[in-house]
Amino acid sequence: MSTPPSQQEAEPDEELDSALVTARRQLERAATHIDVDEGVIERLKYPTRVEQVSVPLERDDGSVDVFTGYRAQHDDVRGPYKGGLRYHPEVNADECIGLSMWMTWKCAVMDLPFGGGKGGISINPKSLSDEETERLTRRFAEELRYVIGPTTDVPAPDMGTDAQTMAWFMDAYSMQQGETIPGVVTGKPPVIGGSYGREEAPGRSTAIAAREAVDYYGGDLEDTTVAVQGFGSVGANAARLLEEWGATVVAVSDVNGAIYDPDGLDIGSIPTHEEEPEAVLEQDAPEHLSNEEILELDVDVLIPAAVGNVITADNADRIAADIVVEGANGPTTFAADTILEERGVHVIPDILANAGGVTVSYFEWLQDINRRKWSLEEVNEELEAKMLDAWEEVRTEVEAKELSWRDAAYVVALSRIAEAKEKRGLWP
Ligand code: NAD
Repeated sequence: MSTPPSQQEAEPDEELDSALVTARRQLERAATHIDVDEGVIERLKYPTRVEQVSVPLERDDGSVDVFTGYRAQHDDVRGPYKGGLRYHPEVNADECIGLSMWMTWKCAVMDLPFGGGKGGISINPKSLSDEETERLTRRFAEELRYVIGPTTDVPAPDMGTDAQTMAWFMDAYSMQQGETIPGVVTGKPPVIGGSYGREEAPGRSTAIAAREAVDYYGGDLEDTTVAVQGFGSVGANAARLLEEWGATVVAVSDVNGAIYDPDGLDIGSIPTHEEEPEAVLEQDAPEHLSNEEILELDVDVLIPAAVGNVITADNADRIAADIVVEGANGPTTFAADTILEERGVHVIPDILANAGGVTVSYFEWLQDINRRKWSLEEVNEELEAKMLDAWEEVRTEVEAKELSWRDAAYVVALSRIAEAKEKRGLWP
């Protein structure tokens, strides 16, 4: 049985920031750069609502366990809540709220007509059989049915969930509603309304952000070296595209460690985490490094694409890359961010770099609502256009207000949200 949220909360860690603490600090910092009503900022520090549900699960042996599920809905002034559902033992209300806030900023910086949501179940997904995962997911969909829907709140896959989870979720919701409603979730398999290119999208947008950053600072991809921590969905797709576009990827890692070849690795031959879990160290390479060492390599572009809080006050002084492109969510702590900025390391923030995932989720939702499938070429063309638009908006703020890329991205997002709130007004 899952532990109640009050017992699950980790001891506060002075170095590693929780998603909620980081999200609130970044909001306050962005607010200092623009003229926004204080009431709007105060409102954005809190979610509209957090739904907490109990999810009973009949185990394969006939016994019953009860798990706690959440759906945090941060803000919907620009459109339905949008964000993932994760199955992970550390899921709790505060984490969902923090991550839902990040989704609000991410959707706004990409100018998508969505607000931020995030949810999940506090459970270890590896402890479940496929049949148990299906029963758990269907029951979770039933428990959340009153707060989600294609025009209210649209979940997606996240840690511990995947396209199959979304297929079960969509099926359960559709059965309850009496009609097939593919637009209730995104990240589904293409055969039931999923979009081509969705899986690759966060890696593709990360690669586009890296390409644009190199170009902006006067570099050429042909002369650019790249290190990628986390050769999973995001990291492998980013590395493969950057290699295809001419860059030299010299190091990649998975949870077990890194491989390094100063002359460049053959990225296409390395299986991703999904294709063959944790195969990086089995590849031929002149050197093996730790996951700490890969972050400190003297490369042009570093892409942390594994987990959060890997660049901290402890190692920020030793980051030797000129440009950091955040493929993962929250890889840089607030304290490390300040150090990197002082040292002149350019950090392209997660809410811009890996936003390809939610952007193609938006394309999927459009395809579902309109009952018209897009080709992979259409998806990638539209993603490229959306990324370049967002890049230009953020670049304009970087130059006009002399901001870091992170602050500029938050300024773009917050301005759009604040303006929407002002136009709509507060219901008296
Ligand atoms: P994934 O599970 O496909 O890959 C994660 C990779 O990181 C694997 O190679 C794994 O071995 C490695 N790894 C795990 N723990 C590690 C550790 N402690 N140190 C070093 N390496 C470690 O995951 P993913 O979908 O690529 O997601 C990676 C990051 O990107 C996460 O922060 C996720 O929130 C973020 N993200 C993912 C998506 C998406 O749609 N997949 C979208 C936006 C952001």
